[in-house]
Amino acid sequence: MPKGNRLKSRLHEIRREMARLGLPALLVTDAANVAYLTGFQGTSACVVMTADRAALIVDIRYYEQATRQAPQTERVLVQGALYDEALVNTLQDLGATRLAFEADALPVARHMAVSWRLPKLELVPTRGIVERAREVKDADELVLVRAAADITSGAILRALEVMSVGMSERAVASLVEAEFWRLGADGPAFPTLVASGPRSALPHPRPGDRLIEAGDLVLIDAGAVVEGYRADMSRTVVVGPPTRKQRAVWDAVHAALEAGLARVRPGVAASAVDAACRKALQARGFAAVHDTGHGVGLDLHEGPRVAGDSEDVLAPGMVITVEPGVYEAGWGGVRLEQLVLVTPAGPEVLTTAPLAIASPCGSVRAGL
Ligand code: ZN
Ligand code: ZN
Repeated sequence: MPKGNRLKSRLHEIRREMARLGLPALLVTDAANVAYLTGFQGTSACVVMTADRAALIVDIRYYEQATRQAPQTERVLVQGALYDEALVNTLQDLGATRLAFEADALPVARHMAVSWRLPKLELVPTRGIVERAREVKDADELVLVRAAADITSGAILRALEVMSVGMSERAVASLVEAEFWRLGADGPAFPTLVASGPRSALPHPRPGDRLIEAGDLVLIDAGAVVEGYRADMSRTVVVGPPTRKQRAVWDAVHAALEAGLARVRPGVAASAVDAACRKALQARGFAAVHDTGHGVGLDLHEGPRVAGDSEDVLAPGMVITVEPGVYEAGWGGVRLEQLVLVTPAGPEVLTTAPLAIASPCGSVRAGL
């Protein structure tokens, strides 16, 4: 739970932005934004904020949780499931005449309900007001991101150690996720990806029934969540001695990762990190097919974007992934992904599981 003064400074920052944009009131409906501004982590809640008030509108299923997680925030209890009603009443109570809303997160039906009930209220679509503030993590957030990253590193390392020939992708995925819970996470940040052999060529493979074979590339992409904060990390290993081609691809991706990390520094364009990864892959005869990375926090994918067309600039406190990959249909793929904190001194890698092409245990078990 964020400390009271931390929440105050978050609200203060949003209010400053609202004032700059001439917006007297803001309706926050994105669940991660609600969590950021109040500490409340349930679904189906929204926040109305003005220059001097912030009201969390929540129904009876979550009221107890809201009291616990967001004690500093004024709470409005929804009668039954009548969220629209509660929202309209709160807006009337606040005397709002102009209301900004999150264009990416307000259902059309709710927009219609509010404008029908309050025809004089001016509704102003906005994008990214809270999301931009979330890009730079404060100390409370970094504690949770680090915890999620530590658990993720431990769980993936454990899976790599236990994984062996004859184990299914599903079994590996369930092992990773069981470790998340055992190590104190609140679960997986996203469904764990495990792909072996030719299936590793799919950038977002769901684990299947395929059994791991000697000589397979195995790609694991997973992340734990701790009090709403996520981690994201990928490792690719070969079960047994790598072929020359597997080694060449893995080394190219590793070189790209190092090249990207070397560019991470405050004031550097996120697109420069992407360019460094692409250039390193090209130098070894490979091409990047997806963006290099993304911000991570209350959402798995948030700002800044680490991509060729990104206009974002890195700043201290941002948490991003650097995750180059090379994929060849029918053969396989390699992705190596680190979760990185941007510090004044450069990158601090938060995902600490070793980077190595050899599976820690697979070669022994495969009898190779
Ligand atoms: Zn990622
Ligand atoms: Zn990932």
